[in-house]
Parts: sequence; structure tokens; C-alpha cells
Amino acid sequence: MIEMENVSKWYGNFQVLTDCTTQVAKGDVVVVCGPSGSGKSTLIKTVNGLEPFQKGRITVDGTVVGAPETNMSKLRSRIGMVFQNFELFPHLSIRQNLTLGQVKVLGRSEEEAAERGLKYLDRVGLLAHKDKFPGQLSGGQQQRVAIARALSMDPMAMLFDEPTSALDPEMINEVLDVMVGLAQEGMTMMVVTHEMGFARKVANRVIFMDKGAIIEDCTKDEFFGSARSERAQDFLAKIL
Ligand code: ADP
Ligand code: MG
Repeated sequence: MIEMENVSKWYGNFQVLTDCTTQVAKGDVVVVCGPSGSGKSTLIKTVNGLEPFQKGRITVDGTVVGAPETNMSKLRSRIGMVFQNFELFPHLSIRQNLTLGQVKVLGRSEEEAAERGLKYLDRVGLLAHKDKFPGQLSGGQQQRVAIARALSMDPMAMLFDEPTSALDPEMINEVLDVMVGLAQEGMTMMVVTHEMGFARKVANRVIFMDKGAIIEDCTKDEFFGSARSERAQDFLAKIL
């Protein structure tokens, strides 16, 4: 589904990604972890074209990211992205947050968009809040709305960038539970997170990054079992 070959990226002289190569198959749940500043956010944002890169090649479902012939807004609409800070539209109701992209980008009718959006809102347990505004919801609830909004676009894959790290501890599980459900239903996911409980439960692979490079790309059992590199061992020792 996602193929990344020797992707490198620089900010001026600073190399932020170095020869990153990995594949994500349909239904894979890949957890990306590593120290702060190691390039995790940059890596997953290259997948949907939010971060351009200078070298290498990425394809998503056969479409080449960033190629002149690729319609990037169309491709991006098929890749759901959930960020640390929810990023709902504050001046729109929850229902409007759910329908806007479907209507504007996918050309769905308001009715169809509302039907789909509310179905996913129900799925994340928040249907009763459909007429509220984001500011009236807790952080955990807003993040669940953000996930429902992404799902309403029928994504072929979902990217998560530290979706629980801005949340109060008591709200982390309500978001992780939704993500675990998605993973178990076979959604293709790349998840930047330090929630190793989530990784143990549903990841089939773990990527460990350091200084812009993929240091480990292995199965969950290999990662937690032998964690071959010293840097990955140090990292695990600090967060577990
Ligand atoms: P992570 O998500 O692992 O914390 P990031 O991908 O956000 O790491 O950042 C990787 C590195 O790139 C960091 O050293 C960061 O300071 C640097 N960086 C990120 N964005 C920019 C930018 N716009 N200009 C220059 N350097 C940046
Ligand atoms: Mg980051």
C-alpha cells in the first residue's frame, strides 16, 4: 500500500531524513517511535505530501507522491491524518466538521456526508455531541471526532502523529481504544506514538528512528524481544 524507497530530505544543510526505506502492506499497523527530533513527524508527512522531499520515491497504492502527473489533493483526501492537536475547525459544529471535507473535496451531498459523518461519530461514541462546537468537548473527545472525520473520507490508510501526547492521562485510553478497534478491523495505519501498550497490542511492525534514519524496522516481537540496536534499547529503557 505504501512504499518508501531511499527517501532523504534536507532543511538547508540539515539532513532531516536519510535514506528511509520501508513498506506498509494493506492491513499493516506500523508503529513509528524514536527520540524527539528524530524525524518521525517528517517521515509520515512525506507519505501524504505534506512534507516534500528531495531524494527517493514514495508510492501510495501505486500512485507516485509528488510526481507532476499525480493529483496530490485527490491522493491526500484518501489518506487520513490525525495530529497531536486535534485540528478541528473551532467555528464549525461537530456535524459541520464531519461533513465539510466530504462535500468540498469528495463532492458528496450534504445529506450523504451527514449520514456518513454521523455514522462514524456514533462509532466513536459521540453522536450525542453532534451539535456542539469543538471547544465544548474534552481533548479526548475532540481527538475522537478528528478520527471520525478522517474515516468519513473513506481513507485507504490512516496516519497518526502522536495522537494522544497532548491529552490528559485519563483521556488517552478512550482514543487508543478507537485506534485499537480500527487496527483490528484491518485499517492500514502508520502511527507515531510512544504508547508501547498500543504497539504491543496491535502493531505488526515497529519502526525505530534516530537522527533521521530508520534504525530498526522489524516485527513487534523482534522489537520488544531483542531490540537489536543499542539506541533502540536505550530508548525503550527510558520510556518503559
Ligand atoms: P520528531 O517528530 O521525531 O520529533 P520532526 O520530524 O518533527 O521530529 O523533526 C526532525 C528534525 O527536523 C528536528 O531536528 C527538527 O528540529 C527539524 N525540523 C523540523 N521542521 C523543520 C523546519 N521547518 N525547518 C528546519 N528544521 C526543521
Ligand atoms: Mg513529531
